[in-house]
Amino acid sequence: MDTPIRQRDRSLIRGLLEALPAAILIIGEDDRVVAANAAALALLPSLRMDELLARGLRSPDVLDSVSRVRASGRSERVIWLEKVPVERSFEVSIAPFGGDGFEPLLILSLHDLTEARRLERMRVDFVANASHELRTPLASVLGFVETLQGPARDDAIARTKFLAIMREQAQRMSRLVDDLLSLSRIEQHLHVRPSTPVDLVGILRHIVDTLSPMADDRRVKLSIAAPNSPVVVAGDRDELLRVAENLIENAIKYGAADAATQNRTVDIAITVQGLQAVLSVRDYGAGIAHEHLPRLTERFYRVDAGESRAKGGTGLGLAIVKHIIARHRGRLTIESKLGEGANFSVFLPLFEARA
Ligand code: ADP
Repeated sequence: MDTPIRQRDRSLIRGLLEALPAAILIIGEDDRVVAANAAALALLPSLRMDELLARGLRSPDVLDSVSRVRASGRSERVIWLEKVPVERSFEVSIAPFGGDGFEPLLILSLHDLTEARRLERMRVDFVANASHELRTPLASVLGFVETLQGPARDDAIARTKFLAIMREQAQRMSRLVDDLLSLSRIEQHLHVRPSTPVDLVGILRHIVDTLSPMADDRRVKLSIAAPNSPVVVAGDRDELLRVAENLIENAIKYGAADAATQNRTVDIAITVQGLQAVLSVRDYGAGIAHEHLPRLTERFYRVDAGESRAKGGTGLGLAIVKHIIARHRGRLTIESKLGEGANFSVFLPLFEARA
């Protein structure tokens, strides 16, 4: 006859479990909880010592597996899907231990798969999105090539027109591939913090020069407020140029150049707040409804995909901006209300504060 596990053994087991980072619990022969560490209690808040496992872990799959392991003496792994309050998934490993004179116990360890599954889903979505973005212009180019080889073979006017469209579609694919490559390059170096001193004011002036023709074209005024002296951050010059370019270009494209926009100004400012440099880009255009704000920096997320494509957008600009800022250990804030324009602010640690 096995002796039930004694109080001293229990405290030893509990102490041992507490020292382990994984969520682990132990149940006795009668399915009552003998021990559970803090990590397990955090995941299963209704679990109680000395009460039935089913009270804290309501998963028929896990409970069935517990019975099987007890009968067979062989360990098992099962997946436990939790739907409320948020969707989460765990791999639960169930193994027998004890015996040899004292009560046979089962040890359950819970491994959270939620994050791994989310990343996997993101990766799958990303590949699907990227392929979809490339497929449309590619199909259009192939269509025109066939027309030019067939029905429009001798039509000089059609040829000129179709070649112009094909060129535009090819440029769109090329922009997309460039953006995808930048994104993957930045991601590869995400953990390496850039350390070269870079003057943000210089960056801003350079980008404003580059984008002036585009702004003039669309009758947009770029208004700049920046200190006369350099504002130096620890950074990667090319990447910071990219951040300023993407934000100002978006403000021109979506904000100031909108047909309905009254105020066609983009206010660009650099300020120093404590140990941080702040670059803010503000437009007075149509703005962005608040439900979109948290998702704007996701890859391929657009408020209006048709509008973005028509304006030459890839849907990756803000994702690139976010990644670059993360690499610089900075922060991006987006403030906007429908009808009241948008304000994008980038906070970057000053070079002198890099330690
Ligand atoms: P893209 O411009 O290539 O579509 P971005 O990642 O740069 O991609 O921007 C994502 C979306 O955010 C845009 O499609 C647009 O809907 C919205 N957006 C960005 N900047 C602004 C802005 N200044 N005003 C209004 N909407 C904006």
